[in-house]
Amino acid sequence: MAASPPSDRELDGLRAGADRFIAELDEEYYLHYAGLKETFDLSPIYERHAELTRLETAQAIGLAVDGDRRTRELWRFSSEGYLGDLTRELAEKEAQLEAELEAAVDGDTIPFRMLRPTIANEPDREKRRRLDRARTDLGEQHLNPVHLEAAMVTRQGVRDLGAATYLELYRDRFAMDLEGLAAQCRAVLDSTERLYEEHADRLFRDRVGVGLDEAERFDVPRVFRATEWDPQFPADRMLPALEGTLADLGIDLRSQENVHLDVEQRPLKTPRAFCAPIEVPDKVMLVIQPMGGPDDWRALFHEAGHTEHFAHTSPELSVEERRLGDNAVTEGWAMLFQHLTDDPAWLTRRLDFGRPDVFAEEGAIGLLYFVRRYCAKLLYELEFHATDDPTTMRGRYVELLGDALKVEPSPTDYLADIDSSFYVSSYLRSWAFEAQLRAFLREEFGNAWFARREAGSLLRELWSLGQKPTAEELLKDVTGATLEMEAAADRVRETLR
Ligand SMILES: [Zn+2]
Repeated sequence: MAASPPSDRELDGLRAGADRFIAELDEEYYLHYAGLKETFDLSPIYERHAELTRLETAQAIGLAVDGDRRTRELWRFSSEGYLGDLTRELAEKEAQLEAELEAAVDGDTIPFRMLRPTIANEPDREKRRRLDRARTDLGEQHLNPVHLEAAMVTRQGVRDLGAATYLELYRDRFAMDLEGLAAQCRAVLDSTERLYEEHADRLFRDRVGVGLDEAERFDVPRVFRATEWDPQFPADRMLPALEGTLADLGIDLRSQENVHLDVEQRPLKTPRAFCAPIEVPDKVMLVIQPMGGPDDWRALFHEAGHTEHFAHTSPELSVEERRLGDNAVTEGWAMLFQHLTDDPAWLTRRLDFGRPDVFAEEGAIGLLYFVRRYCAKLLYELEFHATDDPTTMRGRYVELLGDALKVEPSPTDYLADIDSSFYVSSYLRSWAFEAQLRAFLREEFGNAWFARREAGSLLRELWSLGQKPTAEELLKDVTGATLEMEAAADRVRETLR
């Protein structure tokens, strides 16, 4: 059984294989979600690269891990590939169920995946309650058995990889400082509790007619849907606004040969913008089907942030530094662009926007909601991934999320609301990264930093580093500061005053 570490030559081979594996996955993802290919076929890709996801391969790379961060990244990639392969059929089954399940509500038949948007668009509170009940019932009966099986299979896979728990694998083997981050999250939950209660209460009263103490989970999507802002974010101005923003920073989107803009309408195309970095940096797809509305604008700018980051990544970097590494970095760049869409200075420059300050305040309350939700999610996931019996965690999920948001979540979501690979930590740190970097850019280049060519030059230089540095290292390098979750809270306070 005892494997031996791969030679340098073998490691290079694995590295090159990982590069192709990810490229093929991203291409398949692009083709399917852009509506160019009906089926989503991951199995042939996994089969072609079976070597990379074998338990023995992951174990052998594990033996080669020394001070070199790249080898640890490759080890993590291979280990996640092993776990992903173990649960692949369950993931396919879940996707199939989600696509096929339907709910009957008040005589209408609604596909499972449409239930959440339908709740967000439904002005009648009692109708929202019935829609939510239908969603919960389907989740409990059909999806949770699949989620539970996947959680059990993953637990066994983690033990095969030599760790007692998923938490131990990520914290101790992959060296993620999850507990340090959790301590910061607890502090943020404390420091923003009053601020959240006060502002969220007002927003809920305005939007759904009940305060935070009476609000229920099906009110939340309605509150954040914010239909009244739709006319200010028209579909036909999205792309010109993105092009104009990039032009201000010195980037000509249309002449970027490695950025492929897919704006065609196709019946099977997903309505949500996405970025597929098929080759980094040589072939990055930015896919949209503009619908308009604040959410659509946010999604486009978020994905454009990813796109420019990958498109400017230096081709000289290793596979691990271009494709793997700390995802808080690419999420941070995505957040920096996303948050332009609630910046009053940007709104005024790009759109004839009435009441940009009011919109910015709502954006800040939304950000606070998400930061608190993800803080609680991290605390929950740390417990979830340390326990042997996931079914004992239902109550804790409701308790932790409910405490943070003051609205009880559905206990049914205790399995589905888990991000694999502790991705929750990437989002949390990306919010802090964005807040601190934006403060720096404003200090250096003024409040309209996004309209300064020099700011664009700095961004391009930082993007070229790919994900070689972590978000912490990048921020330290540029600003001299350490990454602090509290910075995200300060950013909210600054807007809400
Ligand atoms: Zn993202």
